[in-house]
Order: sequence, then structure tokens, then C-alpha cells
Amino acid sequence: MDPGGLRAVTPQVPSARNGFPGEPARRGEARGTALEKERIVKYRPFGRSGWKVSALGFGCMRLPIAGQPPVIDEPLATRMLRHAIDQGVNYVDTAYGYHGGESERFVGRVLRDGYRQKVRLATKMPTWLIKDSTDFDRYLDEQRDKLQVDRIDFYLLHALNRDRWANAQGLGVLDWAERAVRDGRIGGLGFSFHDAYPVFQEIVDAYERWALCQIQYNYMDVANQAGTRGLQYAASKGLPVVIMEPLLGGKLVTPPPSVAKCWDAAPARRSPADWALQWLWNQPEVSVVLSGMSAMEQVEENLASAGASEVGSLTAAELAIVDAVREVYRGSSPIPCTRCGYCMPCPSGVDIPGNLGIYGAGVMFGTPETARRDYAILFRLYEAGMVPADTRAVHCAQCGACEEKCPQRIPIRQWMPVVHSVLGEGSPYPERGPSHAC
Ligand code: SF4
Ligand code: SF4
Repeated sequence: MDPGGLRAVTPQVPSARNGFPGEPARRGEARGTALEKERIVKYRPFGRSGWKVSALGFGCMRLPIAGQPPVIDEPLATRMLRHAIDQGVNYVDTAYGYHGGESERFVGRVLRDGYRQKVRLATKMPTWLIKDSTDFDRYLDEQRDKLQVDRIDFYLLHALNRDRWANAQGLGVLDWAERAVRDGRIGGLGFSFHDAYPVFQEIVDAYERWALCQIQYNYMDVANQAGTRGLQYAASKGLPVVIMEPLLGGKLVTPPPSVAKCWDAAPARRSPADWALQWLWNQPEVSVVLSGMSAMEQVEENLASAGASEVGSLTAAELAIVDAVREVYRGSSPIPCTRCGYCMPCPSGVDIPGNLGIYGAGVMFGTPETARRDYAILFRLYEAGMVPADTRAVHCAQCGACEEKCPQRIPIRQWMPVVHSVLGEGSPYPERGPSHAC
């Protein structure tokens, strides 16, 4: 380790422990070999790179925790990650900020003893902390130190939205990344994404050598953020698509009775989590599905699901069941917001669809405490400098500018105080919210 955080740069030639995206599989990596057959998970094309990625990737953002104050339960987390790799998982994802910065250090330790050679490693630059162009090198080198690697296979710009992309691009991130690829510190540049589809398309089109994109996608998010349109657009350009939040932060794992009834009527027996995962793997545009696993049982369940995965494996009847489940969930939302965004921007900085979405999710998924936590996160993101404004409903000034633009005629001015009262002040969800404008 270089105590100064600036190690000598590995020039041009990939080392034994670092291969480039798109190059043929390395020794020890599965690629349609006898080795692959012994493993549980299936492998899928990583875009047009020529490399095959395991259907399941290991996300290191929700590792098991223990103790007081809570820290990563390292013995258990080590067993989980190494077991997944032993079963063929070859994609490991972390980020600068996961577990308060400790996830990368953990991954650096767990990938010793030969495990580094068996996987491709992805981590993410904290784009919200980038103030000038020297920050690119500063964060990358700090992250290589924490991960104990000379080279990071996939380096992602974390959580890009319109503003962060404009900032990074304006500071020359693409030219910087070209240099970092040439000097061997990264294998390729990618990005993870949280904004609306037009921004996604703009980012995809801005650079021909993206190594991958990472999107939030699951059967409830078909028209949210990048959505199905974004998935298909990126894949049509040969871009590998990495899926995050396949279970919507766990909300799809334990369905309410109305949804459970749909699953029970399905021709095949699957757990709700397995339905959600198979729906993703059914689509050829999906390269790898990341799951943030917190217990060994989740690792085993996900490995079994990945082993049963196949493009086009769901029948028309099964896909219709997933559509029906989506409609049951949507039908139970107290607010008919489609997240079209026509009401935005709000002059007071309120994220109107975001607030309505969090409130509605608390009802749809029967998870009011998760909704309250997600609402509080809107403030914490602002506090941490990750977003430029506090976008919570509490800042609604009742101007009414949004309501005339809403095609669903949602009485937004009435909803905003309710949203804050329930999510920000802990009031119970009311039996009936404000009714539609007529
Ligand atoms: S009514 Fe409230 S939410 Fe709507 S635009 Fe005005 S301040 Fe924003
Ligand atoms: S315009 Fe209406 S439906 Fe569209 S995002 Fe805003 S509140 Fe939701």
C-alpha cells in the first residue's frame, strides 16, 4: 500500500489480477467451459464486450451488520461473498459511500486469497463530491487504496442525474477517464443513473466508450427513471446494462394479501422475489442483476434463482400474471400519480412526484416505516451535499402552479401537508386522503 494514497501507476499492460472489459475471459473465469457447468449461476453476454457475466452480481451496499454501533459483520459477510464467488458469481459491485465508506475496505480484504482474480470489480465515484477536475484522480486513487487494487475494472459515475452529469462533463470527466483507462487504473468508465429517460438517453449518446450503465429496474419501474425504454435503448447500442433495485429495496419480497393472491393463482410456484428476478432475466437486454444481500439465506435463494434463469423462460401467461400484480399494486396507491413530471419544476424546490411516490409506496407495499425513512433520506441527501436542495413536501408554499399542469388533476396543494404530516411527523396514514379535483 502507498501510504500517501498515490501509488505508482500500472502502465498500459493489464496485470494478472486485472483484465480489461471486452477482452477474452481470464484464467479462472467461467466462459462456457466445464468449469461453468459445475457452477450454479448462468452466464450472460456483457453487452457486446465479448465477456460473459454471471446472471447474479453481488452488490455490497446492504451487507450484514452487527454490534453497537452497528458495523459490517465481517466474518459472515466474507463467507457470503466468497460462497457466491465459489458458486460462479463474477461481478462485485461497491461504491465510495456504501456502509459509510467501509464497504470498499471490506471488499478489498475479502477479495484477497485469490478471489480478486475470479471477479470483475466495479465501484463508483461520488459525483456529488466532485468540485474540480483534480477530484477525479483524488477519489480514484483513494478508492484503489481502499480496495487494495492497482486497477478497478469498471469505474462508474455514481447516481448521475442532469446536474451531476453537467458538472462532471463540464470538468472534463470523459477526457480524464480516457487517460485513466490508458494508464491502467480503470478498465472502463460507466455510470449509474437516477433521473428521467431523456437525461439517460443524453448521457448514453454523449460517449461511445461507456463500459456499462447501471439502472434501477424492476417490474414496478417499467416507466420510471430509465425504465424499459432506457434498458432497450442502451442494449441496442451494445451497452451492458447492470440492474439495481431488482426487488425495489425489498418491497417486492413480502406482498400484501391482494398481491399474494395473484401469485398464488399463477401456473408456476415461485417466491415473490423469484418472480421479480425471473422477470428481469427473461429480458435479453439485461446483463447482470445486482442484489444487495444481507444474509446467507438470501445468497442461497438468489443463487438458486440465477441457476434457473433464462432469456425468454417466462410464458405469456406468466408475464400476464406479473402485469396483473403491477396493476394490483398500482390500484392500491391512494394517489394516481404517473410520475409524468409535467408538474415540475416546483418554484419551491419540492420534488412533487418523488414525495407522492414515497407516500404512495408506504400504502402499496404496506411499508409505512420504509416510506418515512425514504422521506427522511431526502433531507439527509441535502445535508450531505448530495443534492442541491431539500425537496421534501414541507417546503410547499401552496402556490398552485403545479396543479394546472397535472393531467391526473391531483390536488397537490392538499396532498403536500398530508405527506409531511404522515412521513415527516409520524402521523398515521389517513383512511382517506384529499380527493381528486373534478
Ligand atoms: S403548490 Fe406547492 S408543490 Fe405545487 S408548485 Fe406550488 S409550492 Fe410547489
Ligand atoms: S403532473 Fe401529476 S401525475 Fe404527473 S408527476 Fe406531477 S403530480 Fe404526478
